[in-house]
Amino acid sequence: MLKFWFITGSQFLYGEETLRQVEADSKEIAAGLKLPFPVEYKLTAKTEAEIEKAVKEANYDDECAGIITFCHTFSPSKMWINGLALLQKPWLHLHTQYNETIPNEEIDMDYMNLHQSAHGDREHGFIGARLRAARTVVAGYWKDPAVQEKIARWQRAAAGVMFSRSLKIVRFGDNMREVAVTEGDKVEVQLKLGWQVNTWAVGDLAEMMNAVTDAEIDALMKEYAELYTFDEKDTEAIRYQAREEIAIERILVREGAKAFSNTFQDLHGMKQLPGLAAQHLMYKGYGFGAEGDWKTAGMTAVIKAMYPDGSASFMEDYTYDYKHELILGAHMLEVCPSIAADKPRIEVHHLGIGDREPPARLVFEGKAGKAKALSLIDMGGRLRLIAQDVTCEKPFQDMPNLPVARAMWRPEPSFLEGLECWIIAGGAHHTVLSYDVTAQTLRDFARIMGIELVVIDKDTTPVSLERDLMLGDLIYN
Ligand code: MN
Repeated sequence: MLKFWFITGSQFLYGEETLRQVEADSKEIAAGLKLPFPVEYKLTAKTEAEIEKAVKEANYDDECAGIITFCHTFSPSKMWINGLALLQKPWLHLHTQYNETIPNEEIDMDYMNLHQSAHGDREHGFIGARLRAARTVVAGYWKDPAVQEKIARWQRAAAGVMFSRSLKIVRFGDNMREVAVTEGDKVEVQLKLGWQVNTWAVGDLAEMMNAVTDAEIDALMKEYAELYTFDEKDTEAIRYQAREEIAIERILVREGAKAFSNTFQDLHGMKQLPGLAAQHLMYKGYGFGAEGDWKTAGMTAVIKAMYPDGSASFMEDYTYDYKHELILGAHMLEVCPSIAADKPRIEVHHLGIGDREPPARLVFEGKAGKAKALSLIDMGGRLRLIAQDVTCEKPFQDMPNLPVARAMWRPEPSFLEGLECWIIAGGAHHTVLSYDVTAQTLRDFARIMGIELVVIDKDTTPVSLERDLMLGDLIYN
C-alpha cells in the first residue's frame, strides 16, 4: 500500500516547548487529512542532516509515494537544499496553518512565532522555485475539503508516477504496418516514464494457449457469467477467448507486466483476434493498446493505477455525426467494460479485419458523463501528452448492425474547434478515455515526469493552442 510522508519544517530558535507543539499539531494535521492514500507524520525537520536523511529514506522506501512538506514556523531554506536536491519522489508543498483564524485575545509574539507558515512557507517556496523543483503547491486550511481534494489529486498523480516507473509492457507483435502515431522512442519513454517495452513472440503465446486446461476455462467462464449477460449459443467461441485471456495473463504475470499490445496483422497460431479477452483483462486493470499501440497501452495502465475502481478504456475516434456534434468512439472489439452504462452482453460476430474466426466480444454502450480523452505521442525529442475535456452522452441510436462496444462524446471547447485543436496538437486516433482523471492530476504527473502536457478545455482556442505549442517547441528545443 502506498503512503505519503508528512515532513514539517522548523528550527531550534523558538525553544523546546514550541517544537513540541509543532510536532503535536503536525501529527494532528497529518492524521486529519482524508485522502485516497494514508499520510504518515515523519519528522519535524530542524537540521540539514535530518532533512537529507529523510529524503534518502523516502527515495529508497518503495511504499513511500511522495512527501508533503509544511513549515509550521520559519525553517531556513539553505538547510533544505542538499536534501531536496536528492529528492526522487513527488513533492507537495502544503501551504496551510494549524489554526484557521487569528484569535484576538490569545495572540501575542509567542503565538506569532508558532503559527507563522505565512512567513516560513514563503522561504520554503523560494527554495522550491530556486531549485526549479517539480513540486505541487496547495494553499488553504487543512480541514477544508477543497484543500484536501487538491492533495488527493496530487496523490493520484504520485500513485501514477510510482506505477509508471516500474511498468512493464508486453508487445505481442509489432506496430501495425506503416502507421506513424503508434511509433515511438522506447529508450526515451523508459528514461522519462520508466516503461520497459519489450516484445514476445505470438507463437509463444499460441503455445501458452494450448497449455490452458478445460477446468481453467470453466472457472473463467463462470466469472464471465457473473459479470456479463450471456445468451450466446456459440459457447466454443467464448471459451476460445477465455483460453486467450488465461494465456495472455500468464505471460503478463510471468514478466511482471501490467500492460500489453497486440495486432491483427500478427495472430500466428490464434483462431480469433482477442476481443472479450482483451476487454476483460482491461477490466482487471491491465493496460491495452491495439495495432501494436504500446504507448496507449501504457497510458491506459497508468490511469487505471491512479483510479483502481474508476472507468477508463482504450478507445478510438471512429466516425462523426456533424449534425448532432458527436464523435462515435469504438474499436473492432477492444473497449473496457469499466465504462459501460449497463451490464455488457457477450456476442459472437464475424470480423472482417484480421482474417480469423468470428471473435466473441462484449457489446455495450458507454455511460454518460464528463471525461477526458488522452493521447501520448512522440514529437521527436520529447513526449507530448494531450488531454481533451469531453462530455460523453448516451448514444442516441441503437445501431443494431454495429455489434461492438461504443461511446459517443462531444469535445471541448466546441465540437468543431475541439476537432481542430486535437488535430493541430497531433493527437492520435487511439486514446485513453477516462471518466476520473482531473486536469490537476495530469498537470502534476506531466510536471514530475518532465513531459509536455497539452490541455484542450473550454478555454482553449485554436489560436491560443498554436501559441502554446510554439512555446513548447521553444522550451523543448
Ligand atoms: Mn485502432
